[in-house]
Amino acid sequence: MERGHLARQRAERAPSLGCLSARLFALRPQADKMPALRTSPLATSSLIIPIRKDLGTIESMKRANLRLSFLIATTAAVLCATTAQSLTLIRSHNVARIPATHERTGITFAQYDDPYSDFRNARYSNAGLLNERDEMKLGTQLHREVTKKYNLTDVGLDRVERIGQRCARASLRPNMLYRFHVIQSREINGFSLPGGHVYITTALLKLANDNELASVLAHEVGHIVARHSLKTLKQSQDYNDIAKSLGELTGVAGDLARDLGVTLGQMVGAGLLTFHTRDEEREADFLGVRTLPKAGFDPQAMVTMFQKLQHIEEQNSSLLGSLFSDHPDAEERISNTKYEIARMKRR
Ligand SMILES: [Zn+2]
Repeated sequence: MERGHLARQRAERAPSLGCLSARLFALRPQADKMPALRTSPLATSSLIIPIRKDLGTIESMKRANLRLSFLIATTAAVLCATTAQSLTLIRSHNVARIPATHERTGITFAQYDDPYSDFRNARYSNAGLLNERDEMKLGTQLHREVTKKYNLTDVGLDRVERIGQRCARASLRPNMLYRFHVIQSREINGFSLPGGHVYITTALLKLANDNELASVLAHEVGHIVARHSLKTLKQSQDYNDIAKSLGELTGVAGDLARDLGVTLGQMVGAGLLTFHTRDEEREADFLGVRTLPKAGFDPQAMVTMFQKLQHIEEQNSSLLGSLFSDHPDAEERISNTKYEIARMKRR
């Protein structure tokens, strides 16, 4: 458990390598001086290891907040420990080393080494983002662009649909209309878009058994539950134009739809809406692993799925394209998932 936490602390300090289109995501003035985005046949990523979003300023603020929270947590933990006369714990001077299962002392330290503490009390809605009706319209438009860029197939679609809908119904956003799609590709990948569209490659379908496939799909549904792509879109320079167009849009034909299609096509091409921050990946992992038992799947399959991906990375990383780069660390994800499975069993 502590390993995951320490890995997380390390990961948070790692330098950002993200780089996105300066035009669409000019969050940093020097964005156009940054190295070109790594591309692959599927220049998108989600479940597996996505390229980091270049949200430098926001990330650094988050890191600063995290450091502050950690300091406060450390202080609070020491005070609690003193009250409980757990002097041995104080001597360690390291909150992260206190095991999660410390209930026997009567003190709950779970929040200090819980990799998902930021997400446990999260409430999800479209507030402050596109409303759900416009999100659905956006999804329809984006899906059209995906069909232009990728080769969709019916191979394995029944299986994905059957397993995916179970995960969707058991998620924290069960009333959304979810659509599952299969992309013909030898690259192992899965991603999702606003409006309930989830995509899985044929290579991933071959690799995963049903429970493992469920873990991927539940993770992707998690991104939709947490509105990650909508949050990314909101930070785009084009957000206001897109939101206005979607509000006025009544169909898929006409100049408005065509102009919107061009903008959204560029976003799909660059994979902008499917790049997620490390915290967003953690959140989707968290939502996914918690969905699995509710949907009747074995959450342990998320661990074996990560292990398979890790093995492929070692054997032939080109099959993972640009996805399995460095983020978040597979070991950390495995460790975090095991933590959550153990926690679910205790309750
Ligand atoms: Zn993801």
